[in-house]
Amino acid sequence: MAKKQQGKRQRIRKALLLISLLSFPVIINYLSPYVIIDGAMNGVVNGSFIVFASLFVSSLFVGRLWCGWLCPGAGLGEACIAVNDKPTHGGRWNWVKWVIWFVWIGLIAFLAISAGGYKRVNFFHLTDSGISVDRPRGYIIYYAVLGIFIAFAWITGKRGACHYICWMAPFTILGRKIRNLFKWPALRLKAEQSKCIDCKRCTNACPMSLDVNEMVQSGTLENSECILCGSCVDICPRDVIHYSFSAGK
Ligand code: SF4
Ligand code: SF4
Repeated sequence: MAKKQQGKRQRIRKALLLISLLSFPVIINYLSPYVIIDGAMNGVVNGSFIVFASLFVSSLFVGRLWCGWLCPGAGLGEACIAVNDKPTHGGRWNWVKWVIWFVWIGLIAFLAISAGGYKRVNFFHLTDSGISVDRPRGYIIYYAVLGIFIAFAWITGKRGACHYICWMAPFTILGRKIRNLFKWPALRLKAEQSKCIDCKRCTNACPMSLDVNEMVQSGTLENSECILCGSCVDICPRDVIHYSFSAGK
């Protein structure tokens, strides 16, 4: 693909992330780690339950595309790169989000079982008008979430919250691992190692602080923290890396 078109792809991606971020006050309940807990207590399959389940199912075929292209938290994380563009240090603490996730999922399961299981579906559970932040106290929660994401980005580096605390990331990582296990066709990155000139532009461009150059040299671009943003694809001067909808790892 011509470089001009590749630049356009990243502009489109960043525009989508910006739109998603601006929509966050409307959609925050449908991505909320709390509203699903309240739903479990009351036997209600709510919006965030459906969204998280959809993220898991979609990741079986398109990996973490949501994280790279559509998530409002990602939009905020990438905006914060303007303030702190330091890489996260190898994602040493990536496991923290799994501890949070397992405790959270365990709590949801416990509450749902205690409530006698799910009995009804209400996408708009705890959302009166369909718009999440529709009264002043909603802004306290909204800004608290923004503050946490901003703090992580500023303290730990590029997209720090995505690495360490995001409750949605494990759904997409799990789906990706399952598709790898069964090796069915899915969206992934491929590289032609022999064309690489070792310029490391891909590594510098990666918003998830991955050592993409090293991944290219090792012959596999499979990494559970890769969000398929395509920054490495689009910046590579030798077109080494490309998207592929194919089977295998
Ligand atoms: S490896 Fe490439 S596609 Fe994956 S997160 Fe890094 S820059 Fe984006
Ligand atoms: S940007 Fe392309 S050529 Fe440069 S190190 Fe990465 S894969 Fe190799």
